[in-house]
Amino acid sequence: METEIYWKAVRNNDARFNGAFVYAVNSTKIYCKPSCSSRLPKRENVSFFEDFERAEREGFRACRRCQPKNETIGEQTKTVLRVCELLETEENISLEDLSAELNLSAAHLQKMFKEIIGVSPKKFAEIKRLEKFKAEIKSGGGVTDAMYEAGFNSSSRLYENVSEKLGMTPKTYAKKGKNMKINYTVTDCDLGKLLVARTAKGVCSVAFGDDENVLKENLFAEYRNAAIIEESTNLKEYIEAILLNLEGKNKTLDLPLDLQATAFQMRVWEVLRKIPYGETVSYADVAESLGNKNAVRAVATACASNHVALVIPCHRVIGKNGNLSGYRWGIERKKRILENEKR
Ligand SMILES: [Zn+2]
Repeated sequence: METEIYWKAVRNNDARFNGAFVYAVNSTKIYCKPSCSSRLPKRENVSFFEDFERAEREGFRACRRCQPKNETIGEQTKTVLRVCELLETEENISLEDLSAELNLSAAHLQKMFKEIIGVSPKKFAEIKRLEKFKAEIKSGGGVTDAMYEAGFNSSSRLYENVSEKLGMTPKTYAKKGKNMKINYTVTDCDLGKLLVARTAKGVCSVAFGDDENVLKENLFAEYRNAAIIEESTNLKEYIEAILLNLEGKNKTLDLPLDLQATAFQMRVWEVLRKIPYGETVSYADVAESLGNKNAVRAVATACASNHVALVIPCHRVIGKNGNLSGYRWGIERKKRILENEKR
């Protein structure tokens, strides 16, 4: 439902939207059609309904002035609202695709859309992507993943858009780790230094590195709004399980997790957790099992943004031709983990 478009139509008494929806005013319990000339209500008192029956079921009465019942939506408005819907749900749909879908010439569609909505279909899609991006970031996801989920193609374009529209960079916008309490410890293992961190709910970071200080810095940067302290007592059990896993003695690493992630990352990570010990799949396989074989790059990004090495076994995802591709904690470690697992 296009509430902003609807609200704009109400503000403009736009009769072209009569029949597309009615708006109901909570303070007066009356509903109107978009073109009603009664005084403009406050935005926070207004709700929209796609038909008048629904407004009545919610206890609103028809306005006597504008008689909002039984309006029929105009063909053009109907088409344009359908375009809005397609632009929102179909990622990166082109004007040509739209015109084919709706059996209209691209030029005609473009003109009609701009006339009724006020911006071009391209601009509208861009605005929608930004909104989606903002919502993803607010829900705690990483910038890159939010970017893929919102359908942006390249990060440069994203930054252009965001700094222009939000007045700040995506990193300023994210509030990672806010209200979280984390404790962590660093220990030695066969692959160098191992950092494990947890919240009250579960493990939030498992990372390998060469330098203890770098590992700490990364943790603090990743959850920079969290309260973080070094404390190992309630991590012993987890560390033991992880070290045993590295030695090949504990093949299922089923630790409780507390991860901040976007819906898409979560879906990818769920798939990764199902890859059995000692086996590998390709990024394309993961994309396909998510029902979107074109999402290979987004899958690779989600793997690269894994916070918990081994627990979410992103090391078991490799390139289609068998090359190891990347690993957040170093390709050499990925190689050694996989060799250990195959033994
Ligand atoms: Zn009215």
